[in-house]
Amino acid sequence: MAEIKSIAVIGAGIMGRGIAHAAALGGYRTILEDLLPTALRRAETEIRVNLDKAVELGKVESSAADAAFKRLEYAGSVEEAAREADLVIEAVPEEMESKIEIFTLLDKICRPTTILASNTSSLSVTEIASVTYRAKKCLGMHFFNPVHKMKLLEVVRALETDKDTLATAVEVGGRMGKEVVVIKESPGFITSRINAMIGNEAFYMLQEGIASAGDIDKALKLGLNHPMGPFELVDLVGLDTRLNILEYLHKSLGEKFRPAPLLVQYVRAGRLGRKSGRGVYEYPESAGETVKAKFSRPEAIPAGKS
Ligand code: NAD
Repeated sequence: MAEIKSIAVIGAGIMGRGIAHAAALGGYRTILEDLLPTALRRAETEIRVNLDKAVELGKVESSAADAAFKRLEYAGSVEEAAREADLVIEAVPEEMESKIEIFTLLDKICRPTTILASNTSSLSVTEIASVTYRAKKCLGMHFFNPVHKMKLLEVVRALETDKDTLATAVEVGGRMGKEVVVIKESPGFITSRINAMIGNEAFYMLQEGIASAGDIDKALKLGLNHPMGPFELVDLVGLDTRLNILEYLHKSLGEKFRPAPLLVQYVRAGRLGRKSGRGVYEYPESAGETVKAKFSRPEAIPAGKS
């Protein structure tokens, strides 16, 4: 098994910051990078707040939280972040072109022994790894939102991932406080495939006027014992991220994953969820924190055609 001392995280959005938090708390030197300096600043503030909350709740010793915070570094370029890392975890938006661009660059600048992981929720890690000369050392590490609270890590074995790389990722996941399931690559893995299906169906129901968003959420929480309703969850995940996942599942698994036109419309309107201040619900406190234009507008089916 490879020895991992330092982890670079590429992309400091919702997931990247959480992954960096968990990696630093797991004892790793952690270097976080983003295209946008504002994302790095927000990440630093949020990680401090979340570490302090964990101390208040008695989940983390105050000295461990301080040590974790000190293990975090922030880099202004992928090169600076990744050149000395033993493991790189990519958490840029869910678009194949972006993942491929990052992996091509990482393969050039990282040491030959460095393991490259993607936090993709659905995309083919085999395809992402195919642009590198180290497909054996590439795999998926799919964390859950919010990373510092959620226990699961799906470790995804791509076509050429070797045993040593898998075992290393499982060990790192454990040190980051996660329960790990190892799965063979398949679109959407276990969780995104089921979750996308439920979330999409909820948008179809909303668009058909079957019930209000609040009542659909209430029904799934109180009737099916889901901890969050599908709309509360998609607002947390990001509607753009969910749409990207659905489009990929639609392409790869067929008609049952066709994105609901209402979801497509919301994304076009910039209603991306908590991060943009408005999704299915409104979040006035976070309005304006996200520059709307920075999120891609995926090409999707026109609203109204299902
Ligand atoms: P996000 O939009 O919150 O963050 C993405 C970050 O990447 C942004 O800060 C952006 O500035 C940055 N970025 C874009 N291009 C970059 C580049 N070339 N180099 C460096 N940084 C770049 O997205 P997110 O929700 O954190 O999702 C990231 C990945 O994690 C996606 O693959 C997504 O599917 C996956 N994921 C998301 C969730 C979720 O609940 N949001 C859960 C599990 C996995």
